[in-house]
Amino acid sequence: MAEIIDGKALAAQVRSGVRERALCFEQNNGRKVGLAVVRVGDDPASDIYVRNKIKACEECDIRSVAVVLNGDATQTDVIAVVEKLNADNDIDGILVQLPLPKHIDERAVLAAISPKKDADGFHAVNAGKLFLGEDGGVVACTPRGIMELIKSTGVDICGKHAVVIGRSNIVGKPIAALLLAADATVTVCHSKTENLAQITRTADILVAAVGKKHLVTADMVKRGAVVIDVGMNRDDSGLHGDVDFDNVKEVASYITPVPGGVGPMTVAMLLMNTVDGACGE
Ligand code: NAD
Repeated sequence: MAEIIDGKALAAQVRSGVRERALCFEQNNGRKVGLAVVRVGDDPASDIYVRNKIKACEECDIRSVAVVLNGDATQTDVIAVVEKLNADNDIDGILVQLPLPKHIDERAVLAAISPKKDADGFHAVNAGKLFLGEDGGVVACTPRGIMELIKSTGVDICGKHAVVIGRSNIVGKPIAALLLAADATVTVCHSKTENLAQITRTADILVAAVGKKHLVTADMVKRGAVVIDVGMNRDDSGLHGDVDFDNVKEVASYITPVPGGVGPMTVAMLLMNTVDGACGE
C-alpha cells in the first residue's frame, strides 16, 4: 500500500520557514512583506480562496491588502488597480484571483502585473523563463508545490518517465517544464490524447491535473508509481481528486490525498513566492 504524502505537514514546514524570512525582512527593512490580492465580482469560491490566502498571510507575518472591485468593473479599471500596486513600494507580490468576469481579458490583466511582483507566476515573462530554464523567474505556485511533494518522497526524478494529465497554463504545462528541468522524460496528455490508460501505465511519476472526479483508476497506474492528484472536484459528498484514491493507493508507492495534498502546498508556495519577491530572490 502506498505511503500517503502529507501535504498539510509539508506546507506547515514551508510556512514556518516563510514566517522566519518575513520576520527577518521586517527587521531589516522596517516594514512587513506585502501581498495584494485583487478580486473582481462576488464569485463565492473566489471569496473563499481569497480569504484563505489572507489568513495564511497573517499567520506568516505577511501584510495582505485585499482590493475588491464590483463585477461590472472594466478591464481598464482592473489594470489601473494593478498598475497602482506595481508602483507601490510596500507591495512585493500581486495576485489577481481568477477567473475574472467574462468581459475582462485575463491575459491582458496578467500581462499588466510587474513580472517581479507576479506572486502567482502566471506572467508570460515568468512562464518563458521557466521554459527556457532561466533563473530569476517566479514559478507558478501549484507546480512549485508539486515538485516539493515529489522531492519529499526521496524518489529520484532523473531519468524517470513522468506523465502529466492536463495541459493548462497554470498546472499542466509548468509542471511538465519543471519535471523536464529535473531530467525526467515527460509525456503530457490531454483531452484529445488517445489510449490515455496505455500511456499512464508507463508512468513512474503520474500527475493528474484534469478536473474530473476519479478519472485515474487503479488499472491506469503502474505498480510503485508516485501519484500526485491536483484535481479539486466538489459535489454534494465533498471534495474529490482526479484520482480514485482508495483503489490507486493499493498500487502506487506514494500518493497525495485530496484534500490535504497539493492544495495546502499551493498556498504555501504563494507565500514563498511573495517573500522571495520581497527579498529579491
Ligand atoms: P483546466 O480545465 O484548465 O485544464 C484541464 C486539462 O485537462 C486540459 O488540459 C484538458 O485537455 C485535460 N483533460 C480534460 N479532460 C480530459 C480527459 N478526459 N483525459 C485527459 N485529459 C483531459 O484545469 P486546471 O486549471 O489545470 O485544473 C485542473 C484541476 O486541478 C481542477 O480540478 C482544478 O480545480 C485543480 N487545481 C487544483 C489546484 C490546487 O491547488 N490543488 C490548483 C489549480 C488547479
